[in-house]
Formats: sequence, structure tokens, C-alpha cells
Amino acid sequence: MNFYFSDEHELLRRTIRKIAEEKVRPRAAAIDEQAEYPWDIFKIFKEAGLFSTCIPEEYGGSGLGTTGLCIAIEEVAKYCCSSGLMLLLTYLPTQPIRVAGSEAQRKKYLGAVARGEMRCAFCLTEPGAGSDAANIRTSAVRKGDYYLINGTKCFISGASVADFVTVFAKTRPDAGSRGITAFIVEKGTPGFSIGTIEKKMGVRGMPLCEVVFDEVRVPAENMVGKENKGFQLAMHTLNSIRPAVGARGLGLAQGALEYAMNYAKERHAFGGPLTGLQGLRWMMADMATQIEAARLLIMQAAFLIDSGKFSKEYAGILSMSKVFPTDMAVKVAIDAAQILGGHGYIQDHPMERYIRDAKQLQIVEGTSQVQREIIARNILQYGLPRKNW
Ligand SMILES: Cc1cc2nc3c(=O)[nH]c(=O)nc-3n(C[C@H](O)[C@H](O)[C@H](O)COP(=O)(O)OP(=O)(O)OC[C@H]3O[C@@H](n4cnc5c(N)ncnc54)[C@H](O)[C@@H]3O)c2cc1C
Repeated sequence: MNFYFSDEHELLRRTIRKIAEEKVRPRAAAIDEQAEYPWDIFKIFKEAGLFSTCIPEEYGGSGLGTTGLCIAIEEVAKYCCSSGLMLLLTYLPTQPIRVAGSEAQRKKYLGAVARGEMRCAFCLTEPGAGSDAANIRTSAVRKGDYYLINGTKCFISGASVADFVTVFAKTRPDAGSRGITAFIVEKGTPGFSIGTIEKKMGVRGMPLCEVVFDEVRVPAENMVGKENKGFQLAMHTLNSIRPAVGARGLGLAQGALEYAMNYAKERHAFGGPLTGLQGLRWMMADMATQIEAARLLIMQAAFLIDSGKFSKEYAGILSMSKVFPTDMAVKVAIDAAQILGGHGYIQDHPMERYIRDAKQLQIVEGTSQVQREIIARNILQYGLPRKNW
């Protein structure tokens, strides 16, 4: 057993921590207030090579895996959850290509994402199908050497700034989860457009978009993996992204607690700093303990994924690495705001932003309820984690 990170991962953490403290922290409040994609942060990340973290070396990435991605996201999300999501979006839409894409697709898209030359989005959710993803209605009909895609996706992170999207569509409309196929669709393809851009509670630096496919003609070579195998690909992708979503919660919770601790050291009440009050001390102790528990779940899951262990037997432990840190982030953000008293409710401090941002994490990439369903199903079928490791 080894609780240490490799030299490469430590170097990554140091590098990104400096960027996060010096460049991301001062911008976070404005990114939220302006509710616009932070192109300046994108440029900083691009120049520092941070989009390459999870892309394999043979395709131009730095090959630091899910562990590297989680480290990077954690450091950035301490200050800005939108910028953390920017890093996560190098993984979510590209994982189907990494796992099942053709060599030509991997060469074209993975390297471009790693270099920050292309941004991408993951189009699964529809107005009538979120958690119940097998029920999507967007269709892809084969016409010789191309497919014609029709339908509307909703709640798609970063679609309006993406150069391509990975979209899931029905190729056999009456076959449920066995009739879904994944495709790559590039920006500028006729019939592909961005609809409503939602006004939302938090993570306001990442646009949330409706994506419309109106008779979009997609070459057959843009199909990712095999026809009708797209649902497994989507579920596999969502399974393997769990710790990275958890890392957004981990970073956010640390940022909130650190801010609250610093405040409590300075603020005086009843003749001493707030840090002397047992009621608050125990809250801080509980928060710190939950943060460390979340970190262990996340890093264990990242280790499993990087070791190639993310088949269905591991689905439960991977879901734990998403549900615990994200539920924890909401609780810690609320408790950290409480430590600031009335000041925690005022926008001069970041606590209300932390609370709004944390809430998103319980919904995306499988809600907290769906994660618990996966965990329950998994432990009942395969036994408690580690039984067969
Ligand atoms: C900010 C944001 C960013 C997003 N980004 C993306 C993206 O980039 N790409 C993408 O494809 N989607 C994205 N989504 C969509 C997101 O994945 C869905 O909103 C989520 O999966 C839930 O689906 P739904 O909204 O349709 O809710 P529903 O599925 O209708 O769920 C409603 C309620 O029922 C509960 N529920 C549903 N099924 C079960 C069950 N089996 N057991 C117990 N409870 C259940 C849910 O937990 C929830 O509380 C994003 C959403 C948000 C808010």
C-alpha cells in the first residue's frame, strides 16, 4: 500500500496549484458574475499544457491519467468550479473516442483537445430523457455512406464554445438501450446549431446549452465504436468520470473550508477569535474529516481506472467516489458559510457562490439518487467492495 503520488503527479499538483492561486482565484468572482466562458483562463490552461493531462501520450497528451485529471481539477475547483469543469470537459466527450474510436478519430481529435486547439461537449441528455438515458429520441438514420441526425439535446455543458460534440442517437428506435450509437459532429456542419443558453444557479462560467440537430448529415466514419453499442459507451464513460466529478466537490469543499478557517482566525467574538469557540471548532473538524474521506474515495477510484479496472463489478465503488464528495461539498459549503455568520450570506465573500456551485455537482453525470441506486445494485450483486480484489 502506498499513499504517495508519483513525482509526475506531485509536479502537476505544484504547477497547477500556482496557476490556480495566482490566476484563477482573482478571477473567480467575476467569472460567476459575468456568466461568460472565461477565455483568459482557457488561454492560461492551454499555454501551461493543462488540457493534455488525461490524454494518452501516443496521442499527444501527458498521460497522467484519471489521477492527474483529478489532481488538476481539485486544485482549480478550490477557487472556481467553472474552470474545474473546463478541465473535466477534456475527458467526458473524448473518452468514447479513446475507448472505441477509430485510429483516425483518435489522431484527429485527442491531440487537438490535448493542445487546446479544440474544445468539445458531451451530448446525451434530452428534454424527455435525463437519468433515463436509454429513452432518448434523437435519431440517426443511415443513408448510404452517411447518417442523418435529427433531434434536440438539452443541458449540454460548453456546447456553444465546442468545436465538436460527441452525440448519442437512436439508430434502432424500438430497441431501447440496444439501439443507441455515438457520433462525432463538428461545429459548422449544416443543420447543427445551438439553441437556448440557460440562465442557471451556479457554475455560471460554463455555458449550458440546447443543441439542435436538424437533418445533420454526418459521414459514417464519424460513428464512434460499433452501431447500436453507444449506450454501453455512454455508461462506461460516465462510470469512468465519477472520481473527476468528485474531485470538483473535493476542491470546492477545501476552498470553502480554508476560506472559513482564515476568516475565523481573524474574526473576534466574546473576547477571542472564532477559532476558540468549540461549536465552530467541531464543525471545522467534521468538515476536514469528510474532505479527507472524499479524497481517499476519489484517489482510490482514479487508481482503479488508471489500472484498467472499471468494468461493471467496480461500478459501485466508482459511484461512491462521485456521490460522497459531491454531497459532502454541498454540506461543507453550507457549514463554511455558517462560520462567517451574516458575512457568509453576502457576495463580498465567496461562500454563497460555493453553495450555488456545489449544488450542480449533485445533479450532473448521474444524480445522487442514481448513484445510490448503482451502489445498491452493485453491492447486492457483487458483494461489498474489495471482496474480490
Ligand atoms: C449544470 C448542468 C450541466 C449539465 N451538463 C450536461 C452535459 O454536458 N451533457 C449531458 O448530456 N447532460 C448534462 N446535464 C444533464 C444532467 O446530466 C441531467 O440533468 C441529469 O442526468 C438528471 O436528468 P434530468 O434533469 O432529466 O432529471 P430526471 O432524470 O428527470 O430526475 C428527476 C429526479 O428524479 C430522480 N431520479 C431519476 N431516476 C431515478 C431513479 N432511478 N431512482 C431514484 N431517483 C431517480 C433524480 O435523482 C432527480 O431527483 C447537465 C445538467 C446540469 C444541471
